[in-house]
Amino acid sequence: MKPGTELAEIVAHLKNLMAFDESIGLDPPRVTSSVSRYLEGASGIVRTLEDLRSHIGDCKRCKLSRGRKNLVFGEGSSKARLVFVGEAPGREEDLAGRPFVGDAGKLLTKMIENGMGLKREEVYICNIVKCRPPNNRDPEKDEIATCIPFLKEQLRIIQPEVICALGRVAGQSLMGRGFNITKERGRWVSYMNVPLMPTFHPAYLLRYPAAKRQTWEDLKEIMRCLGLEVKKNA
Ligand code: SF4
Repeated sequence: MKPGTELAEIVAHLKNLMAFDESIGLDPPRVTSSVSRYLEGASGIVRTLEDLRSHIGDCKRCKLSRGRKNLVFGEGSSKARLVFVGEAPGREEDLAGRPFVGDAGKLLTKMIENGMGLKREEVYICNIVKCRPPNNRDPEKDEIATCIPFLKEQLRIIQPEVICALGRVAGQSLMGRGFNITKERGRWVSYMNVPLMPTFHPAYLLRYPAAKRQTWEDLKEIMRCLGLEVKKNA
């Protein structure tokens, strides 16, 4: 390839990357006004989850990048009718690079497969932030604000019929700081024009098994919304 052609391709690619960042609410790097004018009108290049994953790359946009082993993008069907959104990867997820693979993840898989009668691969599972917070602390406001555009983009690509927010942090990140999981779980709300059901996080259920009954009621609501059969006396 001629150097001039190669340079033109690199510039075009950069232009698209920057336009995409801007379109999902991330601040692109500063550029001079003349370059900025050149970038105006660029169209996004991210159409699939694979595109988005490669766009995120070895992300260092927030401080959570410093302690992570692996970025946990999310997994499941790109055509999922139901998306589960948790809080953040934990230790095992960080090591595996996959969401919900520890004890809480095993419980979530049981809830999906034994409870709802779906396969784990049929739904999509991800988190508010994609990198593990140190010592499993809550993700901080700036980290959530930096990472959440990627989640929004995942939802835009998947276009699920229902979102299930798992736990307080997911609920507050999507619905606002005032959200109270104990009082407001089980009530439908809307996020990006998609019905959203907040329920308890599986890690909470491991600590307080008595809350499983309420969570099951919330999952049945989701099943009804998706037109799935809810067995009598279930
Ligand atoms: S948490 Fe999100 S924004 Fe922060 S480094 Fe990881 S992928 Fe990037």
